Amino acid sequence: MAHLQKKIISYTGGIESRVEGLGTFFLVLGIIAAAFWVYVAISAARYEVISLGILQLSAGLTLWVLFTGIADWIRQAKRLKGLPYGGQILEPNAVTAQVCSECGSSNFVQTKTEKIDNEPHKMYECQNCKARIVGEAHRRFL
Ligand SMILES: [Zn+2]
Repeated sequence: MAHLQKKIISYTGGIESRVEGLGTFFLVLGIIAAAFWVYVAISAARYEVISLGILQLSAGLTLWVLFTGIADWIRQAKRLKGLPYGGQILEPNAVTAQVCSECGSSNFVQTKTEKIDNEPHKMYECQNCKARIVGEAHRRFL
């Protein structure tokens, strides 16, 4: 018979989480300081103090990025050593583009719409290899 058991799915804490938290603290501090200086500028009609708010906001953003990067560096070092680490390693976002499956070119033009299996599909022609390309089904929601 099966039974419930505890399984580690991720870790929290560690110096990497504290470093990242410190960066978040500086970011929040910069936002609060910027809001304060905007308030002072509007209430006292001294608009030159807005530059102080911009300066403190940019300092908070810079420290947040730096400390987040340091925390990510610590996580990657721990992962390389096989040690558990708190939080998640930052991964870049994938950028996609539509390309011809035959030659990989992104140089194609739309020709006409055709019905395939009762679904209208946009049709394209590759300008590099002259292949006919079937686009995704184009559904209309009326
Ligand atoms: Zn092609």
